Amino acid sequence: MRLNSFSDVSLRILMVLCVAPEADLSTTRELADAVGTPYNHVSKAVLKLRQMGLIEAFRGRSGGVRITAAGRNATVGGVLRILSDHSDVAQCHGSMGDCPLMPACGLRGVLNHAREAFYVSLDQVTISSLSEPPTSGPITVTLNTSRVH
Ligand code: SF4
Repeated sequence: MRLNSFSDVSLRILMVLCVAPEADLSTTRELADAVGTPYNHVSKAVLKLRQMGLIEAFRGRSGGVRITAAGRNATVGGVLRILSDHSDVAQCHGSMGDCPLMPACGLRGVLNHAREAFYVSLDQVTISSLSEPPTSGPITVTLNTSRVH
């Protein structure tokens, strides 16, 4: 399984917002810098995450977005089910036409079943748990939430 870029950047945004102090608001520009993704892509993901109720926006000169309680408690599986494209795992429909094996193919079904198992395994993982510091190991990695002025 591979995340599409929209899902990937959306999860990155949620992870960054999750570790920001609750009173802090982040602008789209700051998020773009924090997740290393072009502004336009981040802007689209921010809009979608707002529509999903996972982040909330505040207008004004010092406005920005922050994660909601629903966003913290959302599961990775739940987010990916909404944001991922739902095409077949294999390239059954190509530019050269449909795969000739399709009428009797048993692989297509098991691949799609495996994708569902992938989501189910991620239904146990909350967004907030993704940013918890490791409990062991020599290196502590923290997400950058510093504001750029
Ligand atoms: S073999 Fe089956 S799964 Fe693979 S491309 Fe053809 S129809 Fe799709």
